Amino acid sequence: MTTITILGTSDIHGFLPTSLGLEPTDISAASHGSAGILSGAAIRHAHGSEHTLLIDAGDYYFGSPYATFAHCVRANDTQTTQPAQTDGGSAFLSPLTKSALICGYDAMAPGNHDFDHGVGVLRAQQPFLGEKLVCCNVFDLSGTRIFPAYRILELADVSVAVIGAVTGALPQLTAFANTADIIVDDAVQCIADAVHEVRKQVDLVILAYHGGIERDMADGRPTQYDTGEDQAYRILDSIQGIDGMICGHQHRTAYGESHGALYVQPGYQGEFVGAMRFELEADHSIRSQSASLFDTTALDPEHALDVQSNLALREAFNLPRYRRWLEGPIDVSHFAQYVTDKTGIRSYRYTWRDGCCKPFETARSTSPRISVETFKRSFPSPYALSVFRLTEEEYQALAERDIIAWSGSQHPRPETLGGYRVITNDPQAFPAYRLERCSVDNVFDEYIAQVADSTRYAA
Ligand SMILES: [Zn+2]
Repeated sequence: MTTITILGTSDIHGFLPTSLGLEPTDISAASHGSAGILSGAAIRHAHGSEHTLLIDAGDYYFGSPYATFAHCVRANDTQTTQPAQTDGGSAFLSPLTKSALICGYDAMAPGNHDFDHGVGVLRAQQPFLGEKLVCCNVFDLSGTRIFPAYRILELADVSVAVIGAVTGALPQLTAFANTADIIVDDAVQCIADAVHEVRKQVDLVILAYHGGIERDMADGRPTQYDTGEDQAYRILDSIQGIDGMICGHQHRTAYGESHGALYVQPGYQGEFVGAMRFELEADHSIRSQSASLFDTTALDPEHALDVQSNLALREAFNLPRYRRWLEGPIDVSHFAQYVTDKTGIRSYRYTWRDGCCKPFETARSTSPRISVETFKRSFPSPYALSVFRLTEEEYQALAERDIIAWSGSQHPRPETLGGYRVITNDPQAFPAYRLERCSVDNVFDEYIAQVADSTRYAA
């Protein structure tokens, strides 16, 4: 009898453990002292690595300020504190990839946020990750798959296929420019095709799916509107031949068995690692199976790696330089124009908040340079920006008190269907009953990338 263990992480979002030298209060430190990017390696170290695969189900690369720094500034470039020009397309070893390699990831599927600076970011990591990066439903415009749909690994003469897939709703979850040069196909159909292709060649089929759970996994009752963004239940319900699934995307935790397959959903920032155990008979049929989640918050991930690997990671991550970048200035004088370009809304109020989250500048800023950290802390989580729609009287009263500013020389005209739209990172300044919508935009990342592209807003 052989026992195969599949460890699964998801939605780490580039958050780091303090064992790399980060202060616990740093805005890139993984929540609740968890092991962040080292969570998989920490659990593998704590629970044994024999006949174990470590797989990530996406949203590994973006989400923390450190991740933005690693992408826009590149930790080991020359000693400037300003973001460098981004190009995403050329090969460079991201410190996050270096960490994935040191942690021993066997396969990784991309998540929606991993496309937030275009597919070039992942392409640039392909030379280092090779066939470890798997995704069955992303194609270039000629219809050629950009990543292999799956990879096959051998463990103690047991063969395991790992299929990767990203939510088919990816184009609705990121800016048009990020998916303009790719085709994101239906996840369920592409996974079904990949399972069909690989099932007879292997003993176990594992799916790393960057999407969430849309129904009660036991009885199939809907738990949310079926938008196509989360299809974990439908995948196991409609596709035969999957033995285990790592899902994610919703930043929730879940584990169990559905339609005879195991599944795990390991939360956010590496707080949990999913584990799926298969005990196989001599003929490689499954004798028993079980799923669980491991909490990483009580672990010291420093022990997960040898001294040399720890040193190599500390060097690659270059945290002193990251701190200088975070404390260094960013020019926010183009921010209003950037949001207007993005949303078409010209009336705004932006308030910049310091480390204690006290507002200290208002819309009509006379000093447009604030620190990167202040900029980041100025967007309430998870809704970075809110849009309010006000009556003419309300709008004028707020504009007279300088609570609203506008890009351009004249007040914007009223909306065709009535009222005035105002966009803000400071929803408290407006009547709650006039909220039209709020959005989860990663304006922090996007604006920093655009400031880096200095030609865009040249004076
Ligand atoms: Zn996520």
